[in-house]
Amino acid sequence: MKGWMKNIRQVTPYTPGEQPKRPGIIKLNTNENPYPPSPKVDKALKEMDVSMLRRYPDPTCQILNDALAHEYHLRPEQVFTGVGSDDVLAMCFMTFFDGEQPVLFPDITYNFYEVWAEVLRIPYRKVPLDEHFCIQSRDYAVPNGGVIFANPNAPTGQILDLGTIREILDANRDSIVIVDEAYIDFGGESALRFLDEYENLVVIQTFSKSRSLAGMRIGAAFASPELIRYLTDVKYSINSYTLNTAALIAGAASARDRKYFQETVGKIVRTRERVSARLRSLGFIFADSSANFLFVTHPEIPAVKLFEALKEEGIYVRYFRQPRIDNYLRITIGTDEEMDALIRFLEGMILL
Ligand SMILES: *Cc1c(COP(=O)(O)O)cnc(C)c1O
Repeated sequence: MKGWMKNIRQVTPYTPGEQPKRPGIIKLNTNENPYPPSPKVDKALKEMDVSMLRRYPDPTCQILNDALAHEYHLRPEQVFTGVGSDDVLAMCFMTFFDGEQPVLFPDITYNFYEVWAEVLRIPYRKVPLDEHFCIQSRDYAVPNGGVIFANPNAPTGQILDLGTIREILDANRDSIVIVDEAYIDFGGESALRFLDEYENLVVIQTFSKSRSLAGMRIGAAFASPELIRYLTDVKYSINSYTLNTAALIAGAASARDRKYFQETVGKIVRTRERVSARLRSLGFIFADSSANFLFVTHPEIPAVKLFEALKEEGIYVRYFRQPRIDNYLRITIGTDEEMDALIRFLEGMILL
């Protein structure tokens, strides 16, 4: 063994969905938005003065934070932004989960939570979802070093009602509770309305899904000014210049265009409902989704077989080789045309 091996940090990384390069494929595997970002983003970027790029970006991210504060009726001091919500979540883990008790999150959820806990050496415990893949609030009413869950959950797409979230917040007055709302715009009610009531609440959102800006890498945390200050202190201790100038401009333009945002989200929700009915008529079984994807299983055909056959056809969906969910597929909602191609192929497989 090489001598320096003892000093190397070795980790098991998060496995993102494939980003295949081959042309003509239908990509329904990473929950990207099938529609382009707002035309206001296009305009703002075209009008951007490129000579600004010789300067460092604004470390306070003011135009973006102000735009978000305005859109969500918050104060700018309640907003923190970062390079995708993955960056914001990593900062939150570092800042808020520094205790000795285990941080709690569901056994089936966004796999990055476990990766960060491991990499940051944060003790954690995975709390099993019930047999319907639901979170039970009483499971979180135990001593802990923090709580995090996605709502709607990923990859299940299931939404937790605000009453249950309130129960979790009430049972955890002495812990920070993070609600990852990456998909909240596609269904369900945001926990943002609880911010004034619970000083231990952090709500995280992203521009990658409902705002069609996955390639720009923009995410946000909303919390009390006190928590946002702790978060900002950690950020300034690592890298003050996180979001670049173009991302700040694009993000602010997107946050201001509520009309386009609502239109595209509405289209995706309508497609989701139509596709849900079609897949159920083909025998697929799944809970109603509040996200921009469906999490489905079929009683006769193993998920892995469907996954391989779809991939062969050039239709990429997500399959998790993981306990409890290894007979499920997560299918992102694309355009109507993309979903029709998916359904036609599945009909061919199932009805023959
Ligand atoms: C996609 C996703 C994120 C991360 O999104 P970013 O692209 O990093 O903003 C965070 N949480 C969940 C549950 C997600 O599905």
